[in-house]
Amino acid sequence: MIKVSVNGYGTIGKRVADATLKQPDMELVGVAKTSPNYEAMVAFKRGMRIFVPKESKDKFIGAGIEPSGTIDEMIDESDVVVDATPNGVGAEYKKIYVEKGKPALFQGGEKSNVGEMSFSALCNYHEAVGKKYLRVVSCNTTAMLRSICTVNKVSQVKKVRGTVIRRAADPKEYKKGPINALVPDPASVPSHHAKDVNTVLKDLDIITMAVISPTNLMHMHLLDIELEKEVTREEILKQVLSTPRLVVVPGKTGINSTAELVELARDLGRERNDMPEVMIFEDSIYVKGKEVFMMYAVHQESIVVPENIDAVRAVSGIRESIDVTNTSMGIRKGYII
Ligand code: NAD
Repeated sequence: MIKVSVNGYGTIGKRVADATLKQPDMELVGVAKTSPNYEAMVAFKRGMRIFVPKESKDKFIGAGIEPSGTIDEMIDESDVVVDATPNGVGAEYKKIYVEKGKPALFQGGEKSNVGEMSFSALCNYHEAVGKKYLRVVSCNTTAMLRSICTVNKVSQVKKVRGTVIRRAADPKEYKKGPINALVPDPASVPSHHAKDVNTVLKDLDIITMAVISPTNLMHMHLLDIELEKEVTREEILKQVLSTPRLVVVPGKTGINSTAELVELARDLGRERNDMPEVMIFEDSIYVKGKEVFMMYAVHQESIVVPENIDAVRAVSGIRESIDVTNTSMGIRKGYII
């Protein structure tokens, strides 16, 4: 069993911890919390071991949470640390992971040089096997890479032009905005998403533009992918339908929005309304010669979770992971319903 700990139990960390509990070859050492808030209380009630900064022990005990030790002790007990702390904090922790000789994963909010490489399971799993420090790319980059590497199986991708419509905040982030504006992110071109895709597909000609929109449910991407050779819409659809972690939203479902996709997640009884699959609108898949167009939704809170689980196996030297992760997490392919 691979002993996994989660440092930073927020939006991403809590989902990675739950996914770890579902893996046949992993054991959750515990999760690190810095403040004894409701998230720590729920994790403790659910039987997870909580590790805290040395100086905060009394604060947690006062809130009814008995810590299992310090964050340092949690790292000592782990084979792999999944760092899901806020942007920049992971880079600070890296010094400790290195000092203790522990493999660690970092998230997309960290600079790309925090790990030995940027990781996207469908594009470069095998290259990552045996590395010690990986950065799992962000939610937007994960979605773009899954889509590009899937289309690349039909014909080599030559060029990508994409528009990213970003959610402004996660549902719990009540202090963030905007609440009534569309904000270029930034107004200069390209946006950082293209550069981030290039940390994995180094030679790809890709340009993205991004706008922040006042919604907290999902992102939406509009991609224009140019291929080496002419393909048909049927070939693209067939490849997409047969690739786990991508699902297709048919027009006949009447689903026209991210709001309905979240409602569907509720109706399907998905935990936390999570949809870790890239959700491609079937009617948006359009092919003209060598060009493929598509629109898809990205559930930012959950999309990177399967990639984090795969990255745990990669740094543990395990050569195959994706199918195990998909099965254990109930990740789908094909039509969304
Ligand atoms: P979050 O704020 O929800 O969670 C971060 C957690 O880390 C919080 O619980 C916070 O209390 C804790 N923390 C803060 N300082 C700490 C410290 N010194 N030691 C231990 N824990 C500490 O953030 P998030 O949205 O989960 O983002 C985490 C990372 O994942 C970032 O790099 C982000 O860019 C990336 N990411 C976020 C999303 C998303 O949409 N939320 C999607 C993909 C990737």
